[in-house]
This record gives sequence, structure tokens and C-alpha cells, in this order.
Amino acid sequence: MEQFIFNKNFSYRHFTTTKTAGNMKDKNIRNNFLISLNLNPVKLVLANQTHGNNITIVGASDQNTFIDNCDGLITADKNTMIGIFTADCVPLLVACRKDQVKAAIHAGWKGLYGGIVENTFDILKKDFSVDFNEVQVYIGPHIRSCCYEVNCEAGLRFNVKLKDNKLDLSEIVCKKLEKLGIDNIFDIKRCTFHEKDLFFSYRYNGCDERIISII
Ligand SMILES: [Zn+2]
Repeated sequence: MEQFIFNKNFSYRHFTTTKTAGNMKDKNIRNNFLISLNLNPVKLVLANQTHGNNITIVGASDQNTFIDNCDGLITADKNTMIGIFTADCVPLLVACRKDQVKAAIHAGWKGLYGGIVENTFDILKKDFSVDFNEVQVYIGPHIRSCCYEVNCEAGLRFNVKLKDNKLDLSEIVCKKLEKLGIDNIFDIKRCTFHEKDLFFSYRYNGCDERIISII
């Protein structure tokens, strides 16, 4: 089975791994996988994710480190890779070829509710003068509306109508992006719970393993 998936129309090199590539939280497995793709693992910046809404701007000096208390990474350094671990939450990758800036965001319901998407684009606008018309957003595999059963409070929280008690995280992301004027959205439309043979799903078995999305 395939070791990673990606969207061929997205302008930056990126991918999300599958279960076949192994647990990406494991440093040896992760490094060997990156080397197999001819990528230098030392150039990767990761985060100790907390389901929060903090974003950190990183550069070459942050390579090969984990940023603490952080769920979103932004870099304008083209030799730096940034990555986000997930197992049901939404991995978002942001690319702006024109302004040479990219971002990786870990967006579960807590992060989305806490404004992680808005915080990211706030920084992209203020610190990098990113032109939102040129931005592309990749929505990676996550637990989708087919499988993500929640209580009715979750619907009220996001002011969305639940269908059969299912919450649609990608719909929430898209609404936020549209509000910001971003419509170049590349949704890979894969469900981590549905395809539990291909992805790790925390909801399914409380696993510690994670897939990774890198840009
Ligand atoms: Zn599903």
C-alpha cells in the first residue's frame, strides 16, 4: 500500500504519510522514511502540539527541533520543512508561492474553536504581507462527517447544524477560509476513521501512533 498521499495540483512539495510508512512520532522511523524520499530529516521543524492555538514563525536555526506549546508553524525559509502530527485532527498545509511562505497547522475541534486558522492568517498578513488571492490550502486526511459523531453542544459551539450528530470539520475549515477570502482549497477528502487500515485513528483505538503532514 502507498506510504504517502498528496494533492498533485498543490504548488509546494508536500505529503501526508499513511500507516504503511509507520508511526511518524518515532524518530528513527520518521528519519528513515524522509531519507527514502531524498529529504534531509535535519531540515524538519516539528512542534510539541497541545490542541492549542499558538503559532510560531520558524527558520533555519529551528531545524531539527520541536517547538514547545505550539500547533502551527510558519516559515519563509525555503530550505526548512515543517510538519504536523495527526490521528483524526485536520492537518492543514498553507502555501503561498508568490510570497515564498508556507504554514502547517494542527486543527482539531479545540484548535478550530480557539481560532488557530484565524491566528495563522493574521500572522501571514501582518508579518509576511501574504496576498490571500495567491494562497493555497491543503486539507489532509482527518475524521470526516461520515464518522465524527459528537454531542449537540459541538454543533452549537460552531453554529452549524449536525447531520445525524456528525460534525464536519472540513466544512468548518472551509467556512473560515472563505470568510478570509481564500478559495484555493485542496481537500484530499480522505477519512482517517473510515480508512483505519490506511491511517491512524485516535477515535477508533486511542492509538499513540501518528501520521505526519509535511510541506
Ligand atoms: Zn468516515
